[in-house]
Amino acid sequence: MNVYEIIRRKRDRGVLTRSEIEELVAGYTRDTVPDYQMAAWLMAVFCRGMNPEETAALTMAMMNSGRTLDLSAVPGPKVDKHSTGGVGDKTSLILAPLLAACGVAVPMVSGRSLGHTGGTLDKLESIPGFRTALSSDEFVGILTRVGACIVGQSDELCPADRRIYSLRDVTATVDSIPLISASIMSKKLAEGIDGLVLDVKTGTGAFMSKMTDARKLARTMMRIGAKMGKRVVAVVTGMWEPLGYAVGNAVEVIESIEALKGSWHMDLEEVTLVLAEEMLVVAGRASNYGQARRLLMRAMNQGKALAKFREMVAAQGGNSKVIDDYSLLPQPGYTHEIKAKAAGYLKSVDALQVGLLGNELGVGRTRLGDKLDPAAGFVFRKTVGDRIEPGDVIVEVLARTRPLAEGVAGRLAEHIVVSRVAPRNGGRVLARLTKP
Ligand code: URA
Repeated sequence: MNVYEIIRRKRDRGVLTRSEIEELVAGYTRDTVPDYQMAAWLMAVFCRGMNPEETAALTMAMMNSGRTLDLSAVPGPKVDKHSTGGVGDKTSLILAPLLAACGVAVPMVSGRSLGHTGGTLDKLESIPGFRTALSSDEFVGILTRVGACIVGQSDELCPADRRIYSLRDVTATVDSIPLISASIMSKKLAEGIDGLVLDVKTGTGAFMSKMTDARKLARTMMRIGAKMGKRVVAVVTGMWEPLGYAVGNAVEVIESIEALKGSWHMDLEEVTLVLAEEMLVVAGRASNYGQARRLLMRAMNQGKALAKFREMVAAQGGNSKVIDDYSLLPQPGYTHEIKAKAAGYLKSVDALQVGLLGNELGVGRTRLGDKLDPAAGFVFRKTVGDRIEPGDVIVEVLARTRPLAEGVAGRLAEHIVVSRVAPRNGGRVLARLTKP
């Protein structure tokens, strides 16, 4: 393989063959292709793009760089959901037990906080004892017994993606549609699922800030899924504001449990139930959205979804008593309230700024290896569109110390906009894409 020639051709808008892409990825995984050549190639792809065949070839090459899970021993349909990353996005914590309660196995391989976006694993690990590093046997065992299991990516799953992702992170090549598509789809296809529902975010708090790019990303991933014979659908959802009322780790666990108990934030309910409907239809458990919604409501109202969450937490070593007693979760050192100065309506809360300020509190990481504060975060007492009177609490800032809480609160206040007229709340679900 001539790596120089592969880089040059992509730089000059040429098309690469499947075997060239396979050899490049295999060479990088085996350390025969150095970081500087891979970085140059990634930048060439970032600038020139890839056609659908090249993107599919890159996905397969990354998937085949490690093991793929064999879930044939797990009964029933196996469907996952993947979000492209957002702020306050805790839908996975609710969807896994909810779908398991409807007879669909949910094998979720999730991630940690990335940039300004939160991570499902960090949220779950705020539950004392909860383990996300499980062996493949444990994962398959829990999936078979409980129907839902949420774990981190093992060293064996898509090692090429892990290395390429780290390189992209430091070479300004993250926000490329073919590279994001191959990265996400290689991991999801390696999970051994039958179908996948994608939650593609758009807005200030998303990797794709424009709707047209979000649609393009969704369709690219759906096409890769179709090539592999998997049913993949996508929902495009807005990420201008955080999703739900809580942003953090323990606080998002509490909001998820409250939702499973039937007490929802309106936006979180809308997004979660639309994704859940899609998962039931993809799994073949429902033939239309109406039927899916009825099954979901039954599982919620009969307490089956909450019971599944309890089972999943216990099976993964977590203290399931947190479900009945939130004081068993990590508690903040100090809480600071941001209050309204004038009357009006809550117009906007910038999701990107909330995510970045959350990282300063320890919700996510600014550098690899940063220690998190599982109790830190924000609890919004008002939602966009709500009427506000002077002195009303808009948001609580939860932090380790008072100076940290007050410092972050001062800056967060600059990104909360109150208007005199009521803003229009058009909902979070912007498009449902069922055909690539
Ligand atoms: N999430 C991933 O797993 N990969 C990307 O490239 C972007 C988001």
